Amino acid sequence: MENKDCIFCKIVRGEIPSSNVLDNGKIIAFLDVNPVNKGHVLVVAKEHYETLLDIPDNIIKDMIIAAKKIGKSQRKALKADGFNLGMNNFAAAGQEVFHAHIHVIPRFESDGLKHWPAKKYDEGEMDKVREKIATFL
Ligand code: 5GP
Ligand code: ZN
Repeated sequence: MENKDCIFCKIVRGEIPSSNVLDNGKIIAFLDVNPVNKGHVLVVAKEHYETLLDIPDNIIKDMIIAAKKIGKSQRKALKADGFNLGMNNFAAAGQEVFHAHIHVIPRFESDGLKHWPAKKYDEGEMDKVREKIATFL
């Protein structure tokens, strides 16, 4: 289902401009207007799905395949040393546009970006957390 007011649906419909790098029928990919590094790409399904949990498996498969191709191209075309795939799901995770998208961010040895800070588990906590998550899979 399309969403009339969604900014990425508007991009899909060509109602607002975008710098597309790929269009393969069910998926488009375009440059993020506020890139983490230049060449930062967003991969979206043309259909409106809010988060990863709404995307059918066959579509997410195509999105990941597209992200893989884009990362490969960023390494060749931009001489990126690596790339990050990221997906913010729900507001608590930093999602601002509620049309699910995968970020493909080219990375350079010298880009100065840091990894997320890491926490520590208390004694025995890791197994409890493991069990909780495994219960719902
Ligand atoms: P989120 O936080 O939802 O994972 O990321 C949304 C991303 O969409 C941000 O990185 C933001 O820069 C990008 N963005 C927001 N509006 C537009 C737009 O109109 N065009 C493009 N190309 N990117 C956008
Ligand atoms: Zn949308």
